[in-house]
Amino acid sequence: MANKWVYMFSEGNMTMRNLLGGKGANLAEMTSIGLPVPQGFTITTEACTQYYEDGRKINDEIMAQAMDGVKKMEEINGKKFGDLQNPLLVSVRSGARASMPGMMDTILNLGLNDDVVAAMIKGNPDPAFERFVYDSYRRFIQMFSDVVMEVGKKYFEQLIDQMKEKKGVKFDVDLTAADLKELAEQFKAEYKKQLGKDFPSDPVEQLKLAIEAVFRSWDNPRANVYRRDNDIPYSWGTAVNVMPMVFGNLNNESGTGVAFTRDPATGENKLMGEFLINAQGEDVVAGVRTPMPIAQMEKEFPEAYAEFIKVCETLENHYHDMQDMEFTVENKKLYMLQCRNGKRTAPAALKIACDLVDEGHKTPEEAVAMIDPRNLDTLLHPQFDAAALKAATPIGKGLGASPGAACGKVVFTADDAVAWAERGEKVVLVRLETSPEDITGMKAAQGILTVRGGMTSHAAVVARGMGECCVSGCGDINMDEENKKFTLGGKEFHEGDFLSIDGTTGNIYDGQIATVDAKIAGEFGRIMAWADEFRRLKVRTNADTPADAKKARELGAEGIGLCRTEHMFFEEDRIAAFREMICSDTVEEREAALEKILPYQQNDFKQLYEALEGCPVTIRFLDPPLHEFVPTTEDEIKKLADAKGKSVDEIKAIINSLHEFNPMMGHRGCRLAVTYPEIAKMQTKAVIRAALEVQKAHADWNVKPEIMIPLVCEVKELKYVKQIVVETADAEIAAAGAKLDYEVGTMIEIPRAALTADEIAKEADFFCFGTNDLTQMTFGFSRDDAGKFLNAYYDTKIFENDPFAKLDQTGVGKLMEMSLKLGKPVNPSLHVGICGEHGGDPSSVEFCHKIGLDYVSCSPFRVPVARLAAAQAAI
Ligand code: ADP
Ligand code: MG
Ligand code: MG
Repeated sequence: MANKWVYMFSEGNMTMRNLLGGKGANLAEMTSIGLPVPQGFTITTEACTQYYEDGRKINDEIMAQAMDGVKKMEEINGKKFGDLQNPLLVSVRSGARASMPGMMDTILNLGLNDDVVAAMIKGNPDPAFERFVYDSYRRFIQMFSDVVMEVGKKYFEQLIDQMKEKKGVKFDVDLTAADLKELAEQFKAEYKKQLGKDFPSDPVEQLKLAIEAVFRSWDNPRANVYRRDNDIPYSWGTAVNVMPMVFGNLNNESGTGVAFTRDPATGENKLMGEFLINAQGEDVVAGVRTPMPIAQMEKEFPEAYAEFIKVCETLENHYHDMQDMEFTVENKKLYMLQCRNGKRTAPAALKIACDLVDEGHKTPEEAVAMIDPRNLDTLLHPQFDAAALKAATPIGKGLGASPGAACGKVVFTADDAVAWAERGEKVVLVRLETSPEDITGMKAAQGILTVRGGMTSHAAVVARGMGECCVSGCGDINMDEENKKFTLGGKEFHEGDFLSIDGTTGNIYDGQIATVDAKIAGEFGRIMAWADEFRRLKVRTNADTPADAKKARELGAEGIGLCRTEHMFFEEDRIAAFREMICSDTVEEREAALEKILPYQQNDFKQLYEALEGCPVTIRFLDPPLHEFVPTTEDEIKKLADAKGKSVDEIKAIINSLHEFNPMMGHRGCRLAVTYPEIAKMQTKAVIRAALEVQKAHADWNVKPEIMIPLVCEVKELKYVKQIVVETADAEIAAAGAKLDYEVGTMIEIPRAALTADEIAKEADFFCFGTNDLTQMTFGFSRDDAGKFLNAYYDTKIFENDPFAKLDQTGVGKLMEMSLKLGKPVNPSLHVGICGEHGGDPSSVEFCHKIGLDYVSCSPFRVPVARLAAAQAAI
C-alpha cells in the first residue's frame, strides 16, 4: 500500500503525536471529543523526513494526497479554494512532536489574491467587511513574504509604520480599508522589488510553497539551536497542519486569545490568559495592542466565554494536565485552534503536579513523571527578583553556563575576590578565562563572568560543581585585566562597579538587581519524597569539601561518589609543601614534604566522614599531572627555591622537565602512585586515620572508606597500587588496635580498562565510571579543546549534542555496559557507579538505570535532579 502522508483531523488522535506532531494530534483529539475545531488536515512528520530525503522537494505522492485533503476540507466546510463565490482561506501551521514555541513558521489567510479579494468585497458591501478583507490580505502578503520567501519582516513593518505616521494613528486597527488596501499594494510591490517576481496569485501554488516553507523551517538556525538545548532529535521532523481560517479580525464581535487553565508562573488553579477584540493570530503576543485579561472577555462575549470555560474543564479532565490554548471568536462563536500541556516554571510544575494528585487526576508516579528534572536546577540557586529583572535591560549576553543569579561588585582577580569577600562585600569575578588556582576566588564570589570559554570550560564546570552562577564566553567584553577594567555595552567598568549576571539566560546587567534566596517549598519536598520511593538507583555526590558535602546531604545525597583530593592541595600552606614534594630529589625528601600535608588531608577526610554521618565516602587518589601544581610567578619560584635550598634556575629546570605535550594522557592518575608510591601511602594514612578517628567517636556509624584509584588501564597497575594501599592501611589499623572495613576500587575511564574489566574486577571492590575522561579517551578529543570545533559538528549534524554534557550511549555507553557484563560475573559483590558530569544529566541517569548501575554521583546541586531522573527511569 502506498504511504499515507495526510490525515484529516477526524482520522487522528492524541496518541499519534509522533506522526502528526503535537499540534496535529491535539487538533484531532479535540475534534474527537466534540470541541469546535475548524476541520482541516495534517501532513505527517514522515512527509517532512521524506522532503529532506528527496533533496528538499515535496514529491508528487505527498502533494497529491495534500490536494486530496484540500478537496475533503472543501467539502466539509462548504467553501472552495480560490473560489470567487465562496472562497476558502486556510492557515498552514508547523507542529513538531515536541512543542517548539515560536521556532518554526505559520502562514495565515492563505488563498487570497486580487480576484478573491475583489469578489469577497463585492459579496458584502459593509465597509467594515472591506476593511477586514484588506487587513487579511496585507497580513497574508506580509507573512508569506517573510516565512515563505524570506523577505525580512522589517520592510513590511517599516511600510506599516510609515502609513500610520502618514495617517496620524497609533494602532493598526485605526487604519482604514483604503489605508490597508494601499498597504497591500505596497507590500506586493516590495515583494517584487525584493524577489524580482510577482506575488503568486494561484492558491494551490501558494499552498505548495507554504508547505515547503514549513518543512524547511525545521532546519532554520533558531530551530536547530532550540533542539540542541532541549534534546529534540533532528530526525523527528515537523508536521504541517492545513486548516480553514476563522477570523478574529472580522469585526468587533470577534477576537482572538491565548489562555492557560492554571497560572504557568505559580501553578495556581486559576484561568490565566489574554484576549484581544478584532484581532488575528499573533496580535495578542506580538504586543501591537495591549490585550485585556481573559476575565474581561466574559463581559464582551458572554456566550463564547461560557463555552470557553466549559472547554477548559473538558480539556483538563481529558488530558489531566494544565492546558495552554489558542482560540478565536468569530461573530461571537468560539473556535479552538490549539491545545497542549502548557509550559510552566519549575515552581508551577511542582504545585500543579501535587494539585493534580490531590484532585484525583494523577497518581504520585504520574506526578513524578511529569516534572522535567532539568527545571529543578533553577529552584536551587538564588534568583533575581522577578519584577526587578523585568524592569532591567541587559547590556550583554554570554552563555548561561551555570544557573542562578549573581549581583555584586566587579573584581578582576581571584585574590581580590577572596579579600573583598572577607570584608563582607559581594563580588562578581570577571576574568578572561579561569584556571584551577582561581577556585578559592570563584567560591568567594557570587558569580563568575568570563570572556572566553564554552559550556565545558573550566569556569563553567567548576561553577556548576559549586552551584555558583556563571556566565561564560561573553566575547563582546573588551577586557583589560592588567588595568582592572573592561568595556561592555558601551560602558567602561572598573573594580568595585556593580554588575548583575543571570546564569540561566546568560544575560549581563549594569548595576544591581535584587536577588532572593532559593526556597525548598513544600511541594518540592513532596515530589522528592515520592521520587525516592520509586527509584532504584542511589544518588551520591561529587564533593571535595565538608561544606559541599553538607549541602549535598541537605539535597538528599546518599554518599560521596567522588572526592577529588587534589582540590584540597591548593590552599596556601599545602601547596607550598606539595611543591616541595614535587621538587624533591629523593624519596626521603618527598616523604618529609608529604608528612607536612598528611595532617591537613586527615582533617579534611575526617570532616567529610562527619558530614556524611556514616554514608559511604569514595576518595579518589591524586589524579592531575604534577605540572598543574607548580608555581608560575617569579615570587613563588623564589620562595620554593629558598625552601628547597636550590637555585631559582634549578627549580625552573624542574618545572620545565614536568612539561608534557598531552598532559591529559601524561603522567597522572595511578601513574603518579607507580612512580611516587609515597604519595599513595600518605593519602592512605590520611584516609584510614581519619576513618578510625570518626569511627571511634561515632560507634553507631558504619564508616567504611572507599579508596578509588584513578586512570587504571591494566590490572597489574591496579594490583601494584592496591598492594601499597593495603599494606599501609592494614598497618595503620593494626597500630590503632582497631577494626575497620575499607574498599579499594578503580575508576573506569580508559577504554582499555573497560575492555579488560573482567581482569580488573578481580582486584577491584568497585568500579566508578569517570565519563569525562572516558568520553575524551573514547572519542579521542580533548575536552579542553573540543569547544573549538564542536560547533561545526552541530552545524553539519554530525553531532546533535555535546558528548561531554550528554552521555554518548552508543559508544561510551557500550563500553560501560561491557564493563558491567565482564566485571560482575568475576566479582559478584562488585558495586558500580558513575561520577562524571553525566551523573546529573537526566537522560544519562536513565541510561545508568537501564544498564544496572548501583549509583550515580553528581555535583551537590544536581542531586535532586538525579533523584528525580532516577525515579522517572524506574517508573
Ligand atoms: P505557533 O506554533 O507559533 O503558535 P500557530 O500555528 O499556532 O503558531 O499559529 C500562530 C497564530 O495563528 C496563533 O495565534 C493561532 O491561533 C493563529 N491561527 C492559526 N491557524 C489559524 C486559523 N485557521 N484561524 C485563525 N487563527 C489561526
Ligand atoms: Mg500556537
Ligand atoms: Mg578522570
